[in-house]
Amino acid sequence: MTQPERRVALEQIANEVRACTRCRLHQQRARAVPGEGNPNTEVVFVGEAPGFNEDREGRPFVGRAGALLVRLLGALGWRREDVFITNVVKCRPPENRDPAADEIAACAPFLQRQLAVLDPALVVTLGRFSMASFMPGVRISQAHGTMGPVDPATGAANALAFAMYHPAAALRATEIERASFEDMARVPDALIEARRRREPHPAPAPVEPPPLPASEPVPSQSASRGAAAADALIRTPAEADAPADQLTLF
Ligand code: URA
Repeated sequence: MTQPERRVALEQIANEVRACTRCRLHQQRARAVPGEGNPNTEVVFVGEAPGFNEDREGRPFVGRAGALLVRLLGALGWRREDVFITNVVKCRPPENRDPAADEIAACAPFLQRQLAVLDPALVVTLGRFSMASFMPGVRISQAHGTMGPVDPATGAANALAFAMYHPAAALRATEIERASFEDMARVPDALIEARRRREPHPAPAPVEPPPLPASEPVPSQSASRGAAAADALIRTPAEADAPADQLTLF
């Protein structure tokens, strides 16, 4: 899918989210919060659900937790518009209560479709509700800072998930804030690993040809292998793809 096609597909999903009445959360929302970011990114951050500020603005992570997320991204030299940011549940649960299982289930097709369009290499989960969608059966106190393969049924056809604490939890406890910065520092390596796993598997080594009769020098392949290894630099997602976009609202 080209970048313009991705943009159109994400806008279509966003319009459906804004009109959604699939669960009770639509009754009290001011605005649904579909998500936003670079349609060409390799990295998608998935939070839990919009809070008070997000509900007012229709944009994810624009309150205090969002400010910390921006600081965490900034520690890598990344900006929020370099990645895509969305939530498991697109409407605010009243009084910021936990999303209910049926609300998560009703909203799941939207996240699944967003991931199918974005086809990220890395899904970074923020908090236990998001983690449960991508790394089921683990505890966040043990799984944060680790990664695992994503079930393609989530919509991300070929991705790794990397678990982080929710930034709101980091705002409440300095140890969790410290752990969050440490975990975020591991994200570029997780991205490199995720990219590596997406590379097509190399063809089997060719059978050695019989020795040349004459003493012609045989061209070496090691130089190109070395160049490929040196190419494994940490690049921001925007640099890895198209030139950085203006902030795109979906
Ligand atoms: N917390 C979330 O999980 N998502 C938001 O968008 C804001 C706060």
